[in-house]
Amino acid sequence: MLTRPPIFTVLWRGWCRRCPRCGEGRVFKKWLDMHERCSSCNLLYLRNQGDLWLFMIITDRVPILFGIAALYFGLGPRGWMTTGGFFAAMAIPVILTLPQRQGLALALDFLVRIHMPDPSDELHRDAEAQRQSQVAPASRSGDTANA
Ligand SMILES: [Zn+2]
Repeated sequence: MLTRPPIFTVLWRGWCRRCPRCGEGRVFKKWLDMHERCSSCNLLYLRNQGDLWLFMIITDRVPILFGIAALYFGLGPRGWMTTGGFFAAMAIPVILTLPQRQGLALALDFLVRIHMPDPSDELHRDAEAQRQSQVAPASRSGDTANA
């Protein structure tokens, strides 16, 4: 059976740019250059390019939501200086948290992978193979008992 770490733990590991499964391996070589697999548990981080697209859109919109809320409550810029400051206040956190948000997107993708199993995913193939190997010796001993 595939072990399922708690959801908050997986999300926190992603935010910290660590492997969502074991929490040990680093996700990135540098800035946004992602390792293919976890150095500790060998988890394949991305099955297909584009798997993180939806989650990146979601995690991009959350910081922007604060800017929209500020405009809604009348805290918007009044001149070109405050417009520049407002833009910087929106853009800088979005850019600086890019690796954390991409790690979080990877964690969300990992949660989808473990909670919505795809038989072609090696994550589940390995777990199934492990389960089969545990069942096989028992059935073999049953065969010898009948012989
Ligand atoms: Zn790992």
